[in-house]
Amino acid sequence: MAKSTLLFATGNQDKAKELRDIFPEFDIRTLKDVGFCEDIVEDGDTFEENALIKARAVCAFAEEKGIDCIVIADDTGLCVNALGGAPGIFSARYSGGGYADNCAKLLSEMKDKTDRSAMFVCVAAMGHCGRFLTYRGEVPGKIAHEMLGTDGFGYDPVFIEDTTGLTYAQMGEDEKNRIGHRKKAFEGIRPFILEELEDAKEK
Ligand code: IMP
Repeated sequence: MAKSTLLFATGNQDKAKELRDIFPEFDIRTLKDVGFCEDIVEDGDTFEENALIKARAVCAFAEEKGIDCIVIADDTGLCVNALGGAPGIFSARYSGGGYADNCAKLLSEMKDKTDRSAMFVCVAAMGHCGRFLTYRGEVPGKIAHEMLGTDGFGYDPVFIEDTTGLTYAQMGEDEKNRIGHRKKAFEGIRPFILEELEDAKEK
C-alpha cells in the first residue's frame, strides 16, 4: 500500500532526515518538494506558538495550491538553566552564525557555570483542514565542557543526555531517534495523525 504523505514545514534537511527515521511508515515531504520558498516569521513567545505559526503558514500554502495532505511542523530549542532558559526559542539565531558558532557561543557562556543542567525541547505540530494541535517532547541533560562526537547537527555535540551520559552527537542517529526530544514529540502526535487519516478516508 502506498505510504500516506506528510508535508513537513521545514527547509532543514537534518530535521527531515530524523523525521524519516522516526516515521518510516509515512512519505515525508519538505518545503523544497512543494516549492514553498517564503520566509516564515517565527515571532511567537513559546515553542508551541512558533510550531503552530509554521504549521498554519504551510497549511494555508497547501490549501491555496490544492495540495491535500497533513502538515507537520516542529519548533525546537535548548533551554539552559544557568542561562535563564536561553537560548530557548532563539536557538537558531543564538550566535548569528551556523551550528558550530552556536555551540561555541554556548560553551563560552557556560565557561564558569557549575549548574550545567539543560533541557532539549521539541514541540511538534499537526495541521489539517483547519484543525491544529501540538505535542511537547522534553529530554533532560547537561551542557558538556567541549564539543563531543561527530553525528547529528545543531547543538547535538554539546548536549549530554542524562540516561546515557553521552552527547547526542556521540550516541549516533539510531539512539538519538529512539530516545530524543523529536522522537518524543512526534510519537505523541502520531495517534492524532492516524486519526486524521482515518477521518479523511471516511469523507
Ligand atoms: P528550529 O526548530 O528550526 O527553530 O530550530 C532551532 C535551532 O535548534 C536549529 O537551528 C538548530 O540549531 C537547533 N536544533 C533543532 N533541532 C535540533 C536537534 O535535534 N539537535 C540539535 N540542535 C537542534
